[in-house]
Amino acid sequence: MNIILLGPPGAGKGTQAKILQDARGMVQLSTGDMLRAAKDSGTEMGKIVADVMARGDLVTDEIVIGLIREKLQEGSEGGFIFDGFPRTLAQADALGQLLDEMGQTLDHVIELQVDDETLVARIVNRAKEAAAAGQPVRADDNAESVKVRLMAYYKQTAPLIGYYHAKCLLERVDGLAEIDDVKDAIAKVLDKG
Ligand code: AMP
Repeated sequence: MNIILLGPPGAGKGTQAKILQDARGMVQLSTGDMLRAAKDSGTEMGKIVADVMARGDLVTDEIVIGLIREKLQEGSEGGFIFDGFPRTLAQADALGQLLDEMGQTLDHVIELQVDDETLVARIVNRAKEAAAAGQPVRADDNAESVKVRLMAYYKQTAPLIGYYHAKCLLERVDGLAEIDDVKDAIAKVLDKG
C-alpha cells in the first residue's frame, strides 16, 4: 500500500510516518530528510538547496522528483509513505507516472488538518526542545522561515487537496488530536481497504 501524508509544516506528518513505518513495515520517504542529508554531507545538490531550504521556499520539482525516483527503485514490500512529497501539482503528476510505470497504485492521501497558530507554536517549540536537549536545531525552524513555509504550503501545496479529492483518494484526519488518536484515525482509514 502506498500513501501520502499531506499537511502544512508542523502538522505531524513525520511523527505519523515513523509510527506507520515501525508498525506496518512501510518505508517513509521524506524529501525534507533527504534534502537535509544532502545538505549535511555537502554534496553539490546539498549546496544548491541549502539557502532555499533555510529561507523556507520549495526546492525545484526536478530535484525532489529525482530523489523520489531513486528511492522508489529500491522498492518496499510494505509500500511507501510519502511525507512532505508531493508539494506541487507537477510533483503529484510525476508521482502518479512513476507509480504507474512500476505497476503500482496510490491508495490513500491523508490530510492532517491543523490550524496556523498551533503550527507556529509547534514548530517554535520543536526548535526550543531540540536546543534544550543539545540537538541540532533545523535552520528553517524560526518564525521568519515558518511564515515563508506556510505561504509556500497555501500557494503551492494546498491545491493538492482538491487534486486528490477529485481522484477520490483524499481522507481527512484531525491533526490536532493526541498523537495516539491521530495514529488510530489513520489506521482506521488504512484498514478499511
Ligand atoms: P520538511 O522537512 O518536509 O518540512 O521540508 C523542509 C524543506 O525542504 C522545505 O521547506 C523545502 O525547502 C524542502 N522540501 C522538502 N520536500 C520538498 C518537496 N517535495 N518539494 C520542494 N521542496 C521540498
